[in-house]
Amino acid sequence: MIPIEVIFLGILGLIIGSFINVVIYRLPQGKSLFFPFSHCPKCQKLLKWYHNIPILSYLFLKGKCAYCGEKISIQYPLVEALSALLIISLYLRFKPHFDLITFIFLAYFVLTLLTISFIDLKHKEIPDLLSLPLIFAGWFLSLLGKNPLHLSFVDSLISALAGMGLLFFIDTLYYHIAKRESIGMGDFKLMGGFGAYLGYQSFFNILFLASLLGVLSFLLFKVYLKLRGDKRAEEKPNWQEGLRAEIPFGPFLCLSALIYLFNPQSLL
Ligand SMILES: [Zn+2]
Repeated sequence: MIPIEVIFLGILGLIIGSFINVVIYRLPQGKSLFFPFSHCPKCQKLLKWYHNIPILSYLFLKGKCAYCGEKISIQYPLVEALSALLIISLYLRFKPHFDLITFIFLAYFVLTLLTISFIDLKHKEIPDLLSLPLIFAGWFLSLLGKNPLHLSFVDSLISALAGMGLLFFIDTLYYHIAKRESIGMGDFKLMGGFGAYLGYQSFFNILFLASLLGVLSFLLFKVYLKLRGDKRAEEKPNWQEGLRAEIPFGPFLCLSALIYLFNPQSLL
């Protein structure tokens, strides 16, 4: 028997995931998040309420627009399912010392990371509107004395600044050696958010794991191109340039931060 609160949180996660899809689609274009109501990007027809039910509508419509048959991206049900999974996992992980305020702040953290990952994948940018509030939310949580990793406010404050400083340092160093920028500006603020929530103790884990995942994905991407007979697979490997140009770093940073939040001992 699944506990009733888990079912409730799952449904809540699906609904929030539905909204996250709107944010992923509209925020980078500077459009309003609330108006106009959801419509098909191809035929512009307004969707009925029953076309908007998380996951179920996608299955009923077999992944196509009800009016014009345009394919609906798998991203929609995927983000909804991930959002529900994250909320439920968070609840189960922190259930022994459940506290509503902490839960809301952590849910805000993990769902913002989900949103940032998909925006960075699609648009190769991380909006300040998503990354900067993470820093303040992390500070506020520790100010309330409710940080799940027991960060004090001073730790949280210093770690956020250290996170931004660290990436800025790496970037400057890299710029002087390779004469090019390596990291997007959005990644600095994201690292600041990690510092505010998870503390500077998390930085090594996050950066190491994210780099590892980034390189692995880059290799898989090259193999994929080769299998498809794409001539980009033959280009001589230029690691940093190739990585940044084809695979954004944000989603790997976010995934690594999530792993750290759920299990700070995961690497060390
Ligand atoms: Zn349509």
